[in-house]
Amino acid sequence: MSVMTVTGKVRSDSLGLVLPHEHAFIDLRSLVPSSSEISRKKMSQEQVALTNIGKLMRNPYAVLDNAVIDDETVVRDELLKFKKAGGKTFVDLTLRDIGRDPALLAGLSRELDINIVAGCGYYINKSHPSDMDNKTVDSIAEEIFNEIRYGMDGTDIKAGVIGEIGTSEIIYPNEKKTLIASAIVQKETGLGLHVHTDLYATNGYEVVNILTEHGATADKICINHVDVDIKMDYLKDLLNLGVYVEFDNFGKEFYADKRDRSVLRGPFARDIERVRAIKKLIDWGFLSKILISNDVCLKTCLHNYGGWGYDHVITNIIPMMEDEGITTEQIKTLMCSNPAEFLDDGKD
Ligand SMILES: [Zn+2]
Repeated sequence: MSVMTVTGKVRSDSLGLVLPHEHAFIDLRSLVPSSSEISRKKMSQEQVALTNIGKLMRNPYAVLDNAVIDDETVVRDELLKFKKAGGKTFVDLTLRDIGRDPALLAGLSRELDINIVAGCGYYINKSHPSDMDNKTVDSIAEEIFNEIRYGMDGTDIKAGVIGEIGTSEIIYPNEKKTLIASAIVQKETGLGLHVHTDLYATNGYEVVNILTEHGATADKICINHVDVDIKMDYLKDLLNLGVYVEFDNFGKEFYADKRDRSVLRGPFARDIERVRAIKKLIDWGFLSKILISNDVCLKTCLHNYGGWGYDHVITNIIPMMEDEGITTEQIKTLMCSNPAEFLDDGKD
């Protein structure tokens, strides 16, 4: 009953309050489409500042600098705020091609005395390395195995969860290979498997089918980002397959209108809508299959840049859940027991 963290194995019943989907350091700049208009281009080159925070609250990708978190001092301060609010375990799903740094994570984990669990595998097609076409399912599976068994990026720091494995609106062949490889590794290791699905797509079923056909256990799969364009029927159908669904955009309340629709292609739900959807799912009997996180991947999500930080779900969302009639016991299940069960590798 254990979980591998960046500093070694811990018991899964000792994880405390868990954020199951976050990014301490991340660099998504290469994934942000550039604009041809001079004024937009000029704005995209600015640094995140009070003068553009209003714009970024509507379109978070208007300034490219918002898509990178790389300041160690800032991240330390933000993680400390998470700890002080009562958090104990932080799952970091930044993968190799979007800025993963296992040694930095291990250093912060030791210094702050919090658990950090790191992810492995490949993110969406757009971030894949140039030789991805040459990789086979078996070679990708072996890479993921190695990150779990021996260590990541030339270190002996081991991954403790698979993902977030990236899929797009239409699943690319290389994404499918990665899904199949992840399923093989999931079956062998018993680890939880996070899958990033496109913010507006409903291809979670297809993802689950591919994974389970190749041996993955449904109750170790988590479909991410279902809380951007909330569709209750879709969620119910996914949950009936036995997988977890993750409300992981707490703190993101954008509205990019048609002038700004690139990464954000449609409306973006607000926290109160997320909480109300969770309450409904609990009433429908799905309490044990819901995960909750902030998926911090923008500077403006952090206190240091005007946001609510990693502690947002603790500081602001727990009271909102209470206001909406979710009980203390149910909140504990959502934030402690569910992620512990998802992360548990089923081994001693
Ligand atoms: Zn993420």
